[in-house]
Parts: sequence; structure tokens; C-alpha cells
Amino acid sequence: MQVPQLDLKREYELIKDQLLKKAEEVLASGRYILGPHVEELEKKIAEYTGTRHAKGVASGSDALLLSMMAIGLKRGEGVITTPFTFFATASAAYRVGGIPVFADIDEKTFNISPDSILNILEKGEVQEDGTRIKHHTGYIKIRAIVPVHLFGQAAEMDKITEIARKYNLKVIEDAAQSIGAEFGGKKVGTFGNLGIYSFFPTKNLGTAGDGGMVVTNDEKLDYLIKILRVHGAEKKYFHTYVGVNSRLDELHAAFLLVKLNYLDKWSNEREKRAQRYISLFKEAGLLEQIQLPYVHPKSTRHVWNQFVIRAKKRDGLKNYLKEKGIGTNIYYPLGLHLQKCFVDLGYKEGDFPVTEKATREVLALPMHPFLTEDEQSYVVEKIKEFYHAL
Ligand SMILES: *Cc1c(COP(=O)(O)O)cnc(C)c1O
Repeated sequence: MQVPQLDLKREYELIKDQLLKKAEEVLASGRYILGPHVEELEKKIAEYTGTRHAKGVASGSDALLLSMMAIGLKRGEGVITTPFTFFATASAAYRVGGIPVFADIDEKTFNISPDSILNILEKGEVQEDGTRIKHHTGYIKIRAIVPVHLFGQAAEMDKITEIARKYNLKVIEDAAQSIGAEFGGKKVGTFGNLGIYSFFPTKNLGTAGDGGMVVTNDEKLDYLIKILRVHGAEKKYFHTYVGVNSRLDELHAAFLLVKLNYLDKWSNEREKRAQRYISLFKEAGLLEQIQLPYVHPKSTRHVWNQFVIRAKKRDGLKNYLKEKGIGTNIYYPLGLHLQKCFVDLGYKEGDFPVTEKATREVLALPMHPFLTEDEQSYVVEKIKEFYHAL
């Protein structure tokens, strides 16, 4: 049996007619960038998440970059984030001359640990627009926290927003993997000053290419995103800022409008499959060899972008499953503090032991709304086979 980690073709088959109809409509309209479909999608995403404003941009990575520009992050200023995430979370600050300051993750949720954030800020000097700290690179002013809602589960936003308030920091939520997830009944992306989503194909709301969105309740920040995405032009050819070219295409917005109608249904399907994995692993008696995902009690809605286990002999297991036709992925194999491009940040192995342990143990199993019971049973059976043969 072949069980890919993600199978986008099944989803396509289901909504093919609607997507093709939309594609025709857009192509015939002659309007391809930032048109009526983008505006409608912005309105719908704002409604869906419960924010006042939303702006479509070219990708989740750009949504982060534009957010850093919108809060006015300056050269040499710091942004606290997690080293256990996709690269873009940290590179956004770096791209504008900022300094990613990493805080280790929580062992159970894989999300940034509020205690690690506090450790960085505790001895700092609180200022009007941030907190000045002594860092191994020298004295720097921390301006913002960027929590990531990893794998579909909300970070601890109650503690994080409280810390941000106390230390005068902005909060930019990276909800690229978690649109629709909730913490204490409130949707992720709506706790901070700005929230970002990605429409990359593997995300829960994905298009046939790249796309992203920035949401906020702050009118000024929304306005800045709106003009920064068109090269900082308030009026065409009159540039107030040096922005970037980062616009959402009409085709993508049109596809996303179709798929938004299915988002909650499909997230619920993911939840069912997560619960099914959990029972299958328990029945198989595999809890010595693998550790199941942990759901935080305040994570009132997990949207399961990934189903990530910790596994003994992870790499051997991954290879074994590959031989048996089962696709898996390692999110993430190397902490961002150890990336070659960030050597100048001065981190070394051992700085973030919880992250480093996770990079050696995690394995993302097949997960998508169309995964069948047979496929899930096959995955668990093969995992059992691997450990029994040891
Ligand atoms: C996917 C992702 C991004 C970037 O989104 P793109 O649309 O691929 O640029 C940022 N952060 C996290 C956590 C992601 O998973």
C-alpha cells in the first residue's frame, strides 16, 4: 500500500468543478492581481478569524516580513522567537536587520516556552517601545515576540500576551500552520498586534501556489501592510516607504474562496484522524517506543496540520516506513539557532536542549482530511512491525 504523507489530489477531485469554474472566471476577467476576489477573501478571512482587517500578500513568509516592516523593526533590534519552526519565522526579522533571539520550546507541545521567554527578559530594562537586555551579542532592545502555533496547535497565548504587556513588546503570531485553531475559545492570529497565515499548498487552507494573509485589529498597522505590499506606494508611483512587491493573485484568492467553505469541515476530519491514530497506537501497545502528540488543556481547538510523534530510533523507523510505501517528514531536522546562515547570531549546539532533542525524535505521519481508516491501520501496523523486529 502507498500512503503519502499528504495527498492533495483527493481534495482536488472533490472540488475540481468549482475550482475550474473560478479559474475561468478570473482568466476571463482580465484582472489578475489584487482584485475583487482578493478583497472578498480578505473580508471573509477577517470574518472567519474575528479580526477587523486582513490583507492578502504573496506568501506566509512575506506576511512575516511585512509585519516586521510594519512594526518598524530597526537594525539591531531583537525579536524573540522559537528555534523549532520553519525558517521564515526567524528570517523575517533578520531580513530587515533585526536579530532573532531564540527561546527554547516546551517539551510537550513543541511551542515556545513562556518561561524561556521570561528568562531572556527578566533582567532587562523596560522601555517605552521594548525591553533592553544583555544578550551574548551585546546590549539589544527586544521589540517583539513571534510565537508560532506549531503543527496546528496554539501556543500559550495567555502567558505570552501577559509577558508582552509587561515588557512593552509587540506580538506577531505566526499562524501559518494553524488557521482556525483556538486557544481558550479564541482563534489564533487574533491575540497579538498582527497575525499571519500561509496559503502554501500543505497548509490547512492551501492554494495551488504561494499566498499569505496578515490580520490585525489595528487600523494603522493594516494600512502599513496595505501599502508596504505595493512597494510602499500610497498612490501609484508615489512612494512613502521602501516596501516590497508582495501581492496576492486573483486566481489564488478565487481558489481559496472555494476552499474556505470546507476549512472547518476538513479540520474536523483531521481531528477525527488524529483521534483514530491515538486509539490505534494505544491498542497496538506502542507507547513505550513512541510518544503521542500532547494537547494543551487550553488548546480548545487543534487543527492538526501535522500529526507529529516522537519516536525511538526515528531515522530507522522513517526508512522502514519508506520501504513500506509510507511517506513521513521531519519537521524540523535542525534548530534555527544552528543554521549556517545564522552563525553570526553566535549560538552553539547545546543552547536549546529541548529543541535539539525534538529535532532528533520527531516524525510527522501521514495526515490529511482524506486519509482512510485502512491507511491509518496500515501505518500503525508497520510501525509496530518495525519495533517488534528490533
Ligand atoms: C509555511 C510556514 C511559513 C511560511 O509560509 P510560506 O507561505 O510558505 O511562505 C511560516 N511559518 C511557518 C511556521 C510555516 O509553517
